[in-house]
Amino acid sequence: MTHKFIIHSNNTPSSKATEETLREKLRLAGIELAKSLDENPELIICIGGDGAFLEAVHNYDFPSIPFIGINTGHLGFFQEIAPDELDKFIENYLSNKYSIQRMTAVRALVEHDHTIDEFTALNEIIVRSSGNHSIHLDISIGGGLIERFSGDGVLISSPAGSTAYNYSLGGSIVDPRLELLQVTPIAPMNTTAYRSFTSSILLPPNLSLGINPDVVNSKGRLLVTHDSYGKEYDNVDNIEVMLSEQKVDLLRFDNYDFWTKVKSKFL
Ligand code: NAP
Ligand code: MN
Repeated sequence: MTHKFIIHSNNTPSSKATEETLREKLRLAGIELAKSLDENPELIICIGGDGAFLEAVHNYDFPSIPFIGINTGHLGFFQEIAPDELDKFIENYLSNKYSIQRMTAVRALVEHDHTIDEFTALNEIIVRSSGNHSIHLDISIGGGLIERFSGDGVLISSPAGSTAYNYSLGGSIVDPRLELLQVTPIAPMNTTAYRSFTSSILLPPNLSLGINPDVVNSKGRLLVTHDSYGKEYDNVDNIEVMLSEQKVDLLRFDNYDFWTKVKSKFL
């Protein structure tokens, strides 16, 4: 059986050079290249950094085939191999020497103006004020009101997104073998006027988070982002955020260990 891959690259000079070398090596190995998912490729090779990887995930709309990342970017937390490891990658792939890391996405349902927008993110959903005003959000868990949050907003992270923006906000790094939703406050206000949780909240996979914006007392618009994409709203009735049914599969090789990766990238 012939193998068929698809390549997604962010087109920086080093990504372009890596892509050229890779194409030649794949050709010599007898591996075909597809131009779209319609040609039924078995693997998506993503050349770039984490940003390029997220872009590929959204471009291909959370596909069922796995990804492998070649890091030519800055951090490359999702990316598994370096540009000088192409031969080893092809050899390991063809001899089935790899494992699959399955990542669960987060999903948001935004109810507004008698319709519902649905967003899926691999890293995080953020509900925040679009300008320089605080916002007030009634937060409920499993249907019951928990707090009235006041501040910049809240970030809801998947396990995979825990090392991204969530971490910069003081959220916790989550081992990807755990299935949970992390809710991290963004600049929560704690004064005699307002009270908000200041730490992250962790929820089990079957619970969803409800966000009811107080439009009367919040000035300006509401911004809802999913990974690097965002949409602004004037009227939002309710937002529900939960773990998604959508998964993203990443190829990892024998020496992959999440905590070794964390150490090498963060410390
Ligand atoms: P970006 O501004 O280039 O990304 C910021 C940094 O986050 C980059 O170094 C990126 O790695 C890294 N990153 C992305 N996903 C990660 C993950 N799951 N674990 C660890 N690091 C990760 O924008 P981008 O490349 O388009 O990525 C969008 C993401 O950036 C958003 O989903 C959000 O999580 C993150 N972000 C972070 C901050 C912050 O930390 N203050 C602010 C805005 C957005 P590469 O260098 O390899 O691309
Ligand atoms: Mn980036």
